[in-house]
Amino acid sequence: MPLSAEILTTGDELLRGDVVDTNATWLATRIAELGIRLGRIVSVGDELGVVESALRESCARCDLLLVSGGLGPTDDDRTTEAVARAAGVELELQPQALEALRARFARAGYPLTPNNEKQARIPRGAVLLPNDRGTAPGFLLRVGRAWVACMPGVPLELKAMFDAELRPRLLAELGAQIQPALVRSLNCFGLGESQIDHRLQDLLPSALGEAAVAGEATVHYRASFPEVRVIFVARGARAAELCARLETAARERLGSHVYGVDGTTFSEAVVAALRSARATLALAESCTGGLAGDLVTQAAGSSDVFQLGVITYSNEFKRRMVGVPEEVLARHGAVSRECALAMARGVRALAGSSYGVAISGIAGPGGGSDDKPVGTVHFALASERGVRHLHRVLPFERQRIKVLSAYIALALVLHDVQRSSAANDPLEGRWSPEVRG
Ligand code: ATP
Ligand code: MG
Repeated sequence: MPLSAEILTTGDELLRGDVVDTNATWLATRIAELGIRLGRIVSVGDELGVVESALRESCARCDLLLVSGGLGPTDDDRTTEAVARAAGVELELQPQALEALRARFARAGYPLTPNNEKQARIPRGAVLLPNDRGTAPGFLLRVGRAWVACMPGVPLELKAMFDAELRPRLLAELGAQIQPALVRSLNCFGLGESQIDHRLQDLLPSALGEAAVAGEATVHYRASFPEVRVIFVARGARAAELCARLETAARERLGSHVYGVDGTTFSEAVVAALRSARATLALAESCTGGLAGDLVTQAAGSSDVFQLGVITYSNEFKRRMVGVPEEVLARHGAVSRECALAMARGVRALAGSSYGVAISGIAGPGGGSDDKPVGTVHFALASERGVRHLHRVLPFERQRIKVLSAYIALALVLHDVQRSSAANDPLEGRWSPEVRG
């Protein structure tokens, strides 16, 4: 029999709709990666009896139950007690957990209160899962036929605990019965999901041959505006080879639309490219209101490459801050090729940076005209080689126009640094309404 798993998330806030249950979805992907079938996801409130009966029901059905939440120091955190009841064991003070709590509180300069000590009590026989991001330790315990793993509700703590503490133990305990999948993600910007799907049609049979198609490897898409991730999942002895072949074949079809792999973010890719080229960046933003600056600074270490960002929103400050000539504004307006070129040159000169990038557009919903409809955005990229201009009409609403414009501006930089050929320049492609996520 293949292993089956369930997820139990706890907390009144989940049932009230105050908190989106991201722990369940995150854990579900991790379980899938382990090659374990997920039978169901259950959510309950904080009531002791309800948590206990949910635990009993799941433990009668599955081999592995992942529980999130309710390990905190307060009275409404009842998971530990509910597990002890379901397992029919006592709670026991774990000296190692108490010591970790003491050390953590001492570092922060807080006294340890009795309700914190409660967190060092876990069901007898359970294996402690240390929490290096917070106070509540987790634990792993056998209840009937099922392994029950309890983790804190705070997503950051749960993720760190799963990856560092639980996953290795599960592989050790259940190793023979599970076949972890190999997962590879190609992170793309510049094409919509359906355009990518179109380009990757027949990828599996053409890259792997008909023999490998039956479940050994699969391709998925995950869209999160304005990015799309192409995810390969492969199992079995040939998993690494299959993933490598799929990646090579997909890259041939997607070109420089692939900015990075796995955990790499778009801003990390931009910052890394600038850093390796020893280049620096300055931004003059109008309709994006600073979003491009926010995007680039999401990557740690962006201060190595990012020098200046100005939000020149009014015409007056387009003149005063980045030197857009009065006649350019009078003749062409702020949303124009000429204005973007002047902004890019101006901000580059102001910062003395390798690149100056400008964004000026109409994010709407008002302000559009026949000539310049809502979504019209002019971009410019100034470098020692001159100035490049790009004009797009983005068929979205205000927020998406802003986000996409910030991405396009940084993609201009990324592709210039990589000196991509015009043939596979993502910005040659048109944006269509199907870009979503
Ligand atoms: P703590 O010691 O921090 O109280 P805990 O194990 O008691 O840890 P909870 O009190 O259940 O955790 O949740 C803490 C916070 O984590 C919640 O307020 C909520 O913001 C977040 N959280 C809880 N469960 C989930 C979930 N399933 N998905 C996303 N966020 C969650
Ligand atoms: Mg709590």
